[in-house]
Amino acid sequence: MRLLFLGPPGAGKGTQAKMIAEEFGLLHIAPGDIFRQEVKAGTELGHLVEGIMAEGRLVPDDITIQIIEKRLNSPEARNGFVLDGFPRNLAQAQALKDMLERKGERLDLVIDLVVPEEELLKRSMSRRVCAKCGKPYNLNLDPPEVEGRCDVCGGELIVRDDDKEDTIKERFRVYHEETEPLREYYAKCGILVSVDGCGDIDSVCDKIKMCLLDKGLIREAKDR
Ligand code: ADP
Ligand code: ADP
Ligand code: ZN
Repeated sequence: MRLLFLGPPGAGKGTQAKMIAEEFGLLHIAPGDIFRQEVKAGTELGHLVEGIMAEGRLVPDDITIQIIEKRLNSPEARNGFVLDGFPRNLAQAQALKDMLERKGERLDLVIDLVVPEEELLKRSMSRRVCAKCGKPYNLNLDPPEVEGRCDVCGGELIVRDDDKEDTIKERFRVYHEETEPLREYYAKCGILVSVDGCGDIDSVCDKIKMCLLDKGLIREAKDR
């Protein structure tokens, strides 16, 4: 199964992509997570992308595409993958198509998470992320059991640099300008489904699994 999550910042792509990947044994590939790890590790790539991310702009295509291609070609992607945050513009979408074609593969489904903008702003401003394992939290909806600590690994919960209000606004602008046209691109390919991303996390996940069922990608909603 080869899936892609599309949607504006804060729509729940990361949350849902991780759940689906885990349940069905797929590789979760999220360039945002990869870049954040590089920043944290202080690598050369990390230094390069840190400022770009803090401003809410996109990392250059050549760098991003190269990183994604490496993950897609890794053995962990054998059973399939869930892409989350890539592609983010038409050039990246074309590059993805080409790299999959070289392997004789193609995307099965693109899940477009639809959430109104005021709700997105609220979610992003109350978002926290585990500094150690990357698990996302939301202080309003799914706060951790112990304040400031990850339920899974005990790591420290931090605010992402790019979750400041100005940066969030810039990320919305970039989304509308560069990423939103991908909805039409994938609709034309006949593989786009729109899923209402409002409601609690589990009910959104159920809606996604109903789509997978509907498209014959899984046999039953609890399939593994
Ligand atoms: P994205 O990857 O699309 O930016 P995330 O998965 O990181 O989105 O979610 C953004 C924020 O919203 C996080 O704090 C997350 O916990 C929260 N969130 C995710 N799904 C929901 C939901 N269905 N309802 C309310 N908050 C949610
Ligand atoms: P969100 O889940 O809130 O949409 P991400 O975690 O996916 O945010 O991305 C965080 C930042 O990482 C982006 O604002 C951008 O700077 C960079 N980034 C992520 N994916 C890409 C991509 N496909 N191309 C270029 N830059 C990216
Ligand atoms: Zn953690």
